[in-house]
Amino acid sequence: MLHSTLSDANLRLEKALRYVTISNDAIERLKYPKASLCVSIPVRMDDGSLRVFQGYRVRYDDTRGPTKGGVRFHPNVSLDEVQSLAFWMTFKCAALNLPFGGAKGGITINPKDFSKFELERLSRGYVDAIANFIGPDVDIPAPDVYTNPMIMGWMMDQYSIIRRKITPAVVTGKPISMGGSLGRETATAMGAFFVIHTLMEKLGRTSTDLTVAIQGFGNAGGVLAELLAKANYRVVAVSDSQGGIYAKTGLDIPSIRQYKESSRGIKAVYCEGTVCNIVEHRVITNAELLELDVDILIPAALENQITEENAPRIKAPYIFEVANGPVTSAADEILEQRGIQVFPDILVNAGGVTVSYFEWVQNRSGYYWSLNEVNSRLQERIVEETNRIWDLSQDLGISMRTAAYVHALNRLEDAVQAKGTRDYYMS
Ligand code: GLU
Repeated sequence: MLHSTLSDANLRLEKALRYVTISNDAIERLKYPKASLCVSIPVRMDDGSLRVFQGYRVRYDDTRGPTKGGVRFHPNVSLDEVQSLAFWMTFKCAALNLPFGGAKGGITINPKDFSKFELERLSRGYVDAIANFIGPDVDIPAPDVYTNPMIMGWMMDQYSIIRRKITPAVVTGKPISMGGSLGRETATAMGAFFVIHTLMEKLGRTSTDLTVAIQGFGNAGGVLAELLAKANYRVVAVSDSQGGIYAKTGLDIPSIRQYKESSRGIKAVYCEGTVCNIVEHRVITNAELLELDVDILIPAALENQITEENAPRIKAPYIFEVANGPVTSAADEILEQRGIQVFPDILVNAGGVTVSYFEWVQNRSGYYWSLNEVNSRLQERIVEETNRIWDLSQDLGISMRTAAYVHALNRLEDAVQAKGTRDYYMS
């Protein structure tokens, strides 16, 4: 049977439906994406040739507001993947009580093969192709895997050219000088940090000497590693797409980040100024990292990393999903039986879209907040929703993932009810 990520994502919905009373109207709406757009993007390459790339934008559900979600540039991007990611965004925005539905976009490329000029032409070409599908009150793109503020700036600029008016609120995650929000770049990691800290406290585990392994050293994993290390967690392993490093006594994360920025690779180093020296470490694969004997495992790269194949060998008692969809639903069952707790993506990585919401609000009001204001509002919101989801999981005796879906479903149901359901019309 052909296995799709979207049907796997739908299994989470089915499980949560056992614990909520929800109208058939809401269930029917949530089964299918509202609209999926597939586009071909012609790009003039630096060598003069013309190449055409495949792009997608999916608006999954807009019951709670304009749709929201990132755009990824990755060789594995497909319609199925983008639909699944848009599905997760729908639940993520509802779980955090953001006035948004869910969307996602992507282009099937390896951005590392592109020059800066080519990336700019591609980003602008993508917006040319999807301009009628997005808008500040319709659908708002943002960064995701291998896209960054500069790319968001080009996209906003292109949309403004098409509409003949500066429209900052059409895209979030922009450079600060183009209407971006302070704190947006670190928001995913910051949100994850608040969630981890809040839940570890509830579980009676203090940070000192809790060991952590992080898969992925990008905008989310790299910044989170630094925040955790600063708060006395012992980060013993990190990796990027090329592989990972492990040191039992803990890694010096600021030095590794500095090295990664200058060399694009990761090595266990200690840097003083610009001089970095290699320190003792073991080189490991990404697969080995996932199976390390640590307290906290943080997949912060791509989806489908922990599957039924490796789930029986996972040793960490706590998994925090900073990537979207890193644990499959089959793996979920195995981990649950083994007493391993998984804290779900739609809560753990929701800091990014939360500060995207703040950016959209700032763009629309034209008044910009201080970094402190952004971070404290993020903390307030994400800790509040973490507490609610935790209470729900305790009251109903269900996993944090199912509780997060139940919590989001309740909000989606309220919005569906407000428009009238079968019960309203037929009574
Ligand atoms: N791509 C991020 C996510 O998966 C952020 C989306 C946004 O800011 O709209 O949550």
